[in-house]
Amino acid sequence: MNRVRLLHFNAALGPLDYRLPEGMDAPPGTVVSAPLGPRQIIGIVWEKGRLPADEVPDAKLRPLLGKLPVPPLKESLRRLIEWTADYYCAHPASVARMVLSSGGALKGPATMTEYRLTDQTPERMTPQREAAIDALQGEQATIRELAGIAGVSEGVLRGLVNQGVLEPVEVDCDRPFERARPDFHLPSLSPAQREVADRFAGAVSEGGFAPFLLDGVTGSGKTETYFEGIAEALKKGQQVLVLLPEIALTEAFLRRFEDRFGAPPVTWHSSLKSTERRRAWRAIAAGTAQVVVGARSALFLPYANLGLIVVDEAHEVSFKQDDGVRYNARDVAVMRARFEKIPVILASATPALESLQMAEAGIYEKLDLPSRFGGAELPDIETLDLTKEPPQRGHWIAPRLVEEMKVRLERGEQSLLFLNRRGYAPLTLCRHCGYRFQCPNCSAWLVEHRLSRRLACHHCGHETPTPDKCPECGEPDCLVACGPGVERIADEVAEILPEARVAIATSDTLNSPEKIAHFVGSVEEGAVDVIVGTQLVTKGFHFPELTLVGVVDADLGLEGGDLRAAERTYQQVAQVAGRAGRGEKRGEVIIQTRHPDAPVIAALAAGDRDAFYEAEAEARRHAGAPPFGRWAAIIVSSEDENEAREAARQIGATRPNLPDVQILGPAPAPLSLLRGRYRHRLLINARRSAQLQDVIREWLGSLKFPVGVRVNVDIDPYSFV
Ligand code: ADP
Ligand code: ZN
Repeated sequence: MNRVRLLHFNAALGPLDYRLPEGMDAPPGTVVSAPLGPRQIIGIVWEKGRLPADEVPDAKLRPLLGKLPVPPLKESLRRLIEWTADYYCAHPASVARMVLSSGGALKGPATMTEYRLTDQTPERMTPQREAAIDALQGEQATIRELAGIAGVSEGVLRGLVNQGVLEPVEVDCDRPFERARPDFHLPSLSPAQREVADRFAGAVSEGGFAPFLLDGVTGSGKTETYFEGIAEALKKGQQVLVLLPEIALTEAFLRRFEDRFGAPPVTWHSSLKSTERRRAWRAIAAGTAQVVVGARSALFLPYANLGLIVVDEAHEVSFKQDDGVRYNARDVAVMRARFEKIPVILASATPALESLQMAEAGIYEKLDLPSRFGGAELPDIETLDLTKEPPQRGHWIAPRLVEEMKVRLERGEQSLLFLNRRGYAPLTLCRHCGYRFQCPNCSAWLVEHRLSRRLACHHCGHETPTPDKCPECGEPDCLVACGPGVERIADEVAEILPEARVAIATSDTLNSPEKIAHFVGSVEEGAVDVIVGTQLVTKGFHFPELTLVGVVDADLGLEGGDLRAAERTYQQVAQVAGRAGRGEKRGEVIIQTRHPDAPVIAALAAGDRDAFYEAEAEARRHAGAPPFGRWAAIIVSSEDENEAREAARQIGATRPNLPDVQILGPAPAPLSLLRGRYRHRLLINARRSAQLQDVIREWLGSLKFPVGVRVNVDIDPYSFV
């Protein structure tokens, strides 16, 4: 029978059946266009039966319109789509969307017109034209992109085209990427590194599913070792995917990659231009993109011939996606490797407890790099008890830490202060009437950003200029900043060490590859004495002259205490500590805390990682928390407060009663208002034996809600707000 079933993007409609026109061959995985009412939709031919659908009589089927000019999705990727949808209680349509994530790529080969400057000058020079010409030196892109780069309207640039100042260039949208060469620059590895590298290369050469946990201290050369796995895949003509938790890390990675392989890898992240996106997507699907480095969304691309997946900094929370399909890229990476039958490397200096547990159970092969490369020693770590050695009034840096910073400044070395809070102050209030600035869309305070003179919500992006008088009582000059953010700490450094050159490193200040490159360059040149940064500076960076790390407030992460608070604090502090003393000079770390005896702080100071993980594992075992039990969250939201509460109540009232599943709530979520939606939450704690997803599907599947209500399921949640 020539009936085919399509997976398409419209989740509400479910799968649709079509007739295969005479002479058309469309095996499973083929990407096709099909009619739907008066419109055309894009779909993926699926195996019959895998996706349930109501049977439409053969006679009523409409024919497919045609095949799209892209290779069919491989069986391994189709299994991944099904597994991801199933495991995360998401719709396969939403996962398919992440696979076919470039509309342009689906249209097939194409050329486009880009523009670049000639040496003509315009007949009439205006300040706008002059600025545009300055900004566009060396650039070549579409008019729209150039307008974005130059910050002028497209009209201004069209004027320049008419005058011959900009000339059109016809380019192939899919021009090939530079080839990486496995033997471009061979490293000389230490014996320990060599052993690990050989294991990776061997696994790639052999092929087959092989999950590795690469557990190596900061500065041990984890990257160097997995590069040898990449080299082996390149030799075999296979592709490699490297997932990084943050675009900020990409710059340094690109440089090292190019040094080793003689050409940059292909990058994939959300801020690619649509032309870059289509070019990368098509090269990935054609198998000509050899190594792809990207954010978690790169995981769902249609690699033609994948040979290895690396998840670097695999413990990072940002691998968990918290909207749309709520998946954990670390875990999906392992599943993808299983379906592709290839090795996968999870690399970290502070692995997640879940990963360590998998190694202990013998499921992952654990490889260790216990010492730093080149004999650099791990830094000394000490705690500074803020209750015994308080900072001056209105300050946050205690005298002993100030002294150590002074010493570094005198020696021409660098210090790093870590505080995981962007902006100047987390709360602003009126001294006169007590008014607090709150986000109109979220149950959250507005954070003052003094550099950009605004108050901002870190949840929804709402912003308002900082007023000069209280909006409630009208009193002028009465606003008080409460608590510190990095900007405020930077001010404090400027006050106590006026001659120090201070750089603030956060996602606000380092929000583009250029700014990151500039920051890294100026630290390397020694043009910065003190870095004040958020979690952005905890990983990846290698600054040999940085010999002191101060953790401004180690207790911050422990507040509010969700399931992973202690682990996250451990990871963040250990990672930021790992920035100290990476060169020849020994590093020192000072952790400011009010609770030096808290197990996580004590373990950090003692450098006793095993003790921390053991205690943490015991606590989790006791609580039935991952990896010993499982959590899921159901989040119910609506713009209408009553509607949200009522839907949550209804879910609560129909809860299943099962021996291995415990259901808590419903209750208002800690962030009870987010982006204008009222939120209620149920938490589910299940034994490992429970069929958690089936239980949830069956439970929610029978309920009906008003259109304004959203019910989101979060399996293995990381966020408990
Ligand atoms: P990790 O990722 O484990 O923190 P990196 O791979 O970033 O460690 O290595 C730390 C530093 O040591 C980097 O600057 C790296 O270039 C250098 N390094 C590590 N191994 C070698 C090696 N075998 N040869 C030369 N440099 C190395
Ligand atoms: Zn908000």
